[in-house]
Amino acid sequence: MNEFLKKDKAYIWHPFTQMKGWLESDQMVITEAKGIKLIDTEGKEYYDGVSSLWVNIHGHRHPKIDQAIIDQLGKVAHSTALGLANVPASEFAQILVEVSPEGLNKVFYSDDGSTAVEVALKMAFQYWQHKGKPNKNKFIALNQSYHGDTVGSVSVGGIDLFHRVFKPLLFEPYHIPSPSCYHCQLTQKEECHMQCVEVLEKVLKEHHDKIAGLVIEPLVQAAAGMLMAPAGYLKRVRELTKKYDVLLIADEVATGFGRTGRMFACDNECVSPDLMCISKGITGGYMPLAATLTTDEIYHAFLGDMKDKKTFYHGHSYTANQLACAAGIASLEIFKEEKTIERMQEKIYLIRERLEKIGEMVHVGEARQRGMMIGIELMNDKENGVPYAWEDCMGAVVCMKAREHGLFIRPVGDVVVFMPPLCSTVEEINKMLDIIEISIHEITDLGETAQEGGGAHF
Ligand SMILES: *Cc1c(COP(=O)(O)O)cnc(C)c1O
Repeated sequence: MNEFLKKDKAYIWHPFTQMKGWLESDQMVITEAKGIKLIDTEGKEYYDGVSSLWVNIHGHRHPKIDQAIIDQLGKVAHSTALGLANVPASEFAQILVEVSPEGLNKVFYSDDGSTAVEVALKMAFQYWQHKGKPNKNKFIALNQSYHGDTVGSVSVGGIDLFHRVFKPLLFEPYHIPSPSCYHCQLTQKEECHMQCVEVLEKVLKEHHDKIAGLVIEPLVQAAAGMLMAPAGYLKRVRELTKKYDVLLIADEVATGFGRTGRMFACDNECVSPDLMCISKGITGGYMPLAATLTTDEIYHAFLGDMKDKKTFYHGHSYTANQLACAAGIASLEIFKEEKTIERMQEKIYLIRERLEKIGEMVHVGEARQRGMMIGIELMNDKENGVPYAWEDCMGAVVCMKAREHGLFIRPVGDVVVFMPPLCSTVEEINKMLDIIEISIHEITDLGETAQEGGGAHF
């Protein structure tokens, strides 16, 4: 064991990780990266097949982002946003407003996806008090949703495995069925879609005078295992929330910045939410940064004299960090210069073709895709729809096998998640999918084992 891993095991508690498994097995220690590859202390290279947990867009060590951060470092790394403005944060806010859906004109910075969601929930809650409707203080959340790990964002989460233990600590939203639940993926999609919309409308009709907002991951419930909503669902949710005067909060933390093949998932259905949470891809995967975008209407409801007590009392130490905003500006410039989204289309098509074949494998229940968000669901007995035993961690075992072949990926349960950086070339995507295919084959068909790698499931 090298000295760094020794120190890691002595001092670090890893996120979403059973540390017992981690301590008992060998782990990679990353020292550098090049393009879409990570390099460890042994000098081994691995494709970063999950974009370092869905954040990386243009690859690692992109010269333009590197330079933007270095240049900013020569000026100032950080000064507080409480009582001070700064140059890159102002510039970046303008660009964010330009690229985001119509009507989102104000930017509230924070540090990560969870805080972007907290901010949206608190803004929506306080907004209705200023509008003289303090009883509108509850939320609607979708089953299977994931909005982060802080207490507020967990309250609107719907993934039992992660959220159950904290239940006594949480506020209770109205839960509605996910139109992309696994059941709907397999049976009459149209019918189920309609039922989901009907349930939503019923809740809105009965309770809208108590509801501040509805929180949704537009198009793709990523952490639930890349569950895809049927076309038109998001648009319908927008229409209904408008009709019943409920704010729509779009959590684009995973789907934003090109992931779905458009800049934002909402763009696919021409939807403008009242609040939009963005983070992961916001700096191209370089720095922690997030933002909650909102409308003039909501912003103006908070204006007043001090005695009106309309201030939004929320903020973080590193809000509007200069280095992060400089990285964000550079990342959006690269989108333009490298025509990132235009050039993705051919790759999205290629992935679709390859997934058709992977979907036919004996132990693959379904291979789902939206843009460059891919989930391959493993299935013990496909004919009868019998999953693998939960304790077998098949998703994790397949991902460990992929690591032996030079690809770093992480599963969600038995769903093998593939989220390559958007800049990945056709050749690189083919190579990564080759590895995924062979790894699934070796583990599920040939019954091989993978080298132990603790805590590998989400
Ligand atoms: C990852 C994620 C979050 C949480 O973001 P963090 O930066 O991990 O706090 C929130 N919402 C969605 C949809 C996500 O995928």
